[in-house]
Amino acid sequence: MIPFNKPYLTGKEAHYMYEAVFTGKLSGNGMFTQRCQAYFEQRFGFKKCLLTTSCTDALEMAAILCDIKPGDEVIIPSYTFVSTALAFVRQGAKIVFADSQANHPNLDVDRIEALINSKTKVIVPVHYAGMACDMDQIMALAAKYNLLVVEDAAQAIDSYYVPTTGDVEATPRPLGSIGHLSAFSFHETKNIISGEGGMLAINDDRFIHRAEIIWEKGTNRAEFFRGEVNKYGWVDIGSSFLPSEVIAAFLWAQVEQLDVIQDKRKQHWNRYYEALKPLADKGYFSIPAIPDYATNNAHMFYLVCPSLDERTKLINTLKQNDILAVFHYLSLHSSPYYTDKHDGRVLPNCDMFTDCLVRLPLFYELTNENLDKIIETIKSVYSM
Ligand SMILES: *Cc1c(COP(=O)(O)O)cnc(C)c1O
Repeated sequence: MIPFNKPYLTGKEAHYMYEAVFTGKLSGNGMFTQRCQAYFEQRFGFKKCLLTTSCTDALEMAAILCDIKPGDEVIIPSYTFVSTALAFVRQGAKIVFADSQANHPNLDVDRIEALINSKTKVIVPVHYAGMACDMDQIMALAAKYNLLVVEDAAQAIDSYYVPTTGDVEATPRPLGSIGHLSAFSFHETKNIISGEGGMLAINDDRFIHRAEIIWEKGTNRAEFFRGEVNKYGWVDIGSSFLPSEVIAAFLWAQVEQLDVIQDKRKQHWNRYYEALKPLADKGYFSIPAIPDYATNNAHMFYLVCPSLDERTKLINTLKQNDILAVFHYLSLHSSPYYTDKHDGRVLPNCDMFTDCLVRLPLFYELTNENLDKIIETIKSVYSM
């Protein structure tokens, strides 16, 4: 069976975890945590990074930092993972679901403005498959209406937004460095992993001080350990959002190999793309569109079939050939938890991706032989 995902180990994970164990510092915010955070800050220009135990936790921290109160409205794509919405729902927010673009699961920025009113507080763009949302437009809307932007960059490590207006030679900007706050995931299904894990990136100075406090159970412990205060105590709300050093040590082994991992994933992605483009050109399905303002971090390779039936047929044929391809989100506006809280708007593009999108296996250890088998099996469905 070719699995959908197989977590990749660089070989150094156990070594660094052993090191963490034998230095005797097992709780959070130690050497490995600080090493990872400094790496991400320097490489991607995030002002401040805090490792978390998941992206879900990073989003929860973001919702607290945005000071969400009951009744506040948050604009979120419906075609996303539950955590994007859940983090804000826990703070009492009303979720206003945005539709996807017709040709891309990312939210349709042109139709966000109509959703904004005096209660709107935050926009949460999700960079689906690690491909950028149109961040200049989103940030412009946020500035116009005085909103905050939290990027759900769970899938978007080492991916970029390339501004298309103004400067001809605009410099690509790392995803996660543009919104006021951003959340990343190191879940085992993502490009670099620590089993469960995540990170909050803080790009607005106003939030840095409070973020550190919320991170450590509402205490000013981080300041205490830097010697900035001579005792620490309970100063705010928060939770235990920080991972243990054992997790951070695991992550460090992955961080060191980020470029190697990305290169390999992009090779796989390109092999799919080249081989399947002729079928897409014939209209059997569509392959991922990369907007001119986005780069590809090879988080995911997906196809969009013309119908649910066609997708089921494709998934079944792959399964009969020992290949596991999987569909993705069930749009949140029609989830059992949110249906009766949703305002009733129909979101046709989200529904279409719910029914028609299928993800193909993509992981480091996939071989060219595996890829060719998957490609040939897909071709056989369309007798090509
Ligand atoms: C994976 C993912 C999450 C959740 O990440 P965890 O680290 O598992 O909490 C949130 N949003 C999106 C878009 C994701 O892909």
